[in-house]
Amino acid sequence: MARQLDYHTIRAIFDRFQTAEPEPEGELEHVNAFTLVVAVALSAQATDAGVNKATRKLFAVADTPEKMLALGEEGVTEHIRTIGLFRNKAKNVIKLSRILVEEYGGEVPNSRAALESLPGVGRKTANVVLNMWWRFPAQAVDTHIFRVGNRTGIAPGRDVVAVERAIEDNVPVDYLLHAHHWMILHGRYTCVARKPKCPACLIRDLCPFEEKTP
Ligand code: SF4
Repeated sequence: MARQLDYHTIRAIFDRFQTAEPEPEGELEHVNAFTLVVAVALSAQATDAGVNKATRKLFAVADTPEKMLALGEEGVTEHIRTIGLFRNKAKNVIKLSRILVEEYGGEVPNSRAALESLPGVGRKTANVVLNMWWRFPAQAVDTHIFRVGNRTGIAPGRDVVAVERAIEDNVPVDYLLHAHHWMILHGRYTCVARKPKCPACLIRDLCPFEEKTP
């Protein structure tokens, strides 16, 4: 685990991320809060591109909990067959749609606890929804953020919750809303798992990772 970076270096890193990509966006397609919840729930152990391919047709016929219920579990299953764990995910989409209709008047609640109480929605999904839809600076830590946080020393931690807390504690608040997407994109395209692209990395001189690639 890398040592914790100091305030000025973290600020310099995020300044560069912001200059390179002032308004970073998530890559999961959605048209409202409900379709965002469904898309994020479907994305567990699947790629965003694979989810988008399936949800384009699904959301064209069902972009509200009511319409999703009308489509039914079989209908949802047909649309998401290409996504891993599709049977279980289809069940959860129907269950969460029913809860949204029966308990929340068809609206998506916006507290972490209420979101996490929905079937198939964990802490990470709840944080993505809070960040992307309500623009609350919640930090959803996935495998990319976990790696980048630890390699760079921005947010060292032994598990995802520790890294989530470390990001909240260490990243200056003016960068906190977008920290999630900057770190995901950095991990997905530059600081990749097996052979990070250090020679092309825009924070190479600020990164203390001892196994940088030449
Ligand atoms: S220098 Fe290498 S290890 Fe450090 S952040 Fe960049 S890509 Fe990752």
